[in-house]
Amino acid sequence: MNRHIAIDGPAGAGKSTIAKAVAKKKGLIYVDTGAMYRAFGLYLLRQQVDVNDQDAVIAACERADVSIAFENNEQVVLLNGENVNGQIRTEEVGNMASACSTIPRVREIMVERQQQIAREKDVIMDGRDIGTVVLPDAKTKIYLTASSKVRAKRRYDELKEKGVDCDLKKIEADIIERDERDMNRAASPLRQADDAILVDTSDLSIDEVIAKILELSDG
Ligand code: C5P
Repeated sequence: MNRHIAIDGPAGAGKSTIAKAVAKKKGLIYVDTGAMYRAFGLYLLRQQVDVNDQDAVIAACERADVSIAFENNEQVVLLNGENVNGQIRTEEVGNMASACSTIPRVREIMVERQQQIAREKDVIMDGRDIGTVVLPDAKTKIYLTASSKVRAKRRYDELKEKGVDCDLKKIEADIIERDERDMNRAASPLRQADDAILVDTSDLSIDEVIAKILELSDG
C-alpha cells in the first residue's frame, strides 16, 4: 500500500505550507485538493453558472475537466487542459469553491479523482475530508487548526505582501463564514476524523508545526 498522510482543517490553518514542507522532507507528492474545487469554481465563474442552481452546477461538473498533473513534483491544476494555478487564489474563486463543494455529486466526482491519484502515488493530501472520506486508511491523519483571528491575520499579511489592498475585519468575517459552511454542510462536512491528531498552530511557528508533524508521521 502507498504511504499516505491526510491533513484536514479550516481555511488558513497553514495546511498547504506545512504539507509542502513535509512532502519535501519525506519524499511524498503534495496534493492540494482545495485547488481542484477552486478550479471548478473558476469554471463556474467563467461560464456564469448560478451556484444556487444545483442541476446546472452538476451538469457543469460533468462537463468541466478538472485534473491534476505534476511537474518537477509540483502540482499543476488543469481546467480543460489549461494550467489555472495562477488564477485560483482569489477570494472570489475561494468563495465559489466553498459554495459548489456543498453539492454531493460535485464532491463524488472530485473524491474519485483524488483517490485515483492516491492509488498511484505516495501522497500527503490536504483538504477538508481527506481523513474522513478520501483516505480513511491513511497511516497518519492530522487535523490542523488555529483561531479565526490568527488565520485572518496570516491571510492579511500574505495579501499585504503581495501589495493587495485588504481589510482584516472583512477577511476574518469571510473566514468565519467559510468555516460555518464547510463544517455544517450535509455532504462530508469538515470535521476531525476519530483517529486524527489535533494540532493547533495558533501559537506555533511554521518550523515547530513541521517538526511536530514529522514526529507524528515517523515510524
Ligand atoms: O483549501 P482551499 O481554501 O483552497 O479550498 C477551497 C474550498 O474548497 C474550501 O473552502 C472548501 O469549501 C472546499 N474544499 C472541500 N473539500 C476539500 C478541499 C476544499 O470542500 N477536500
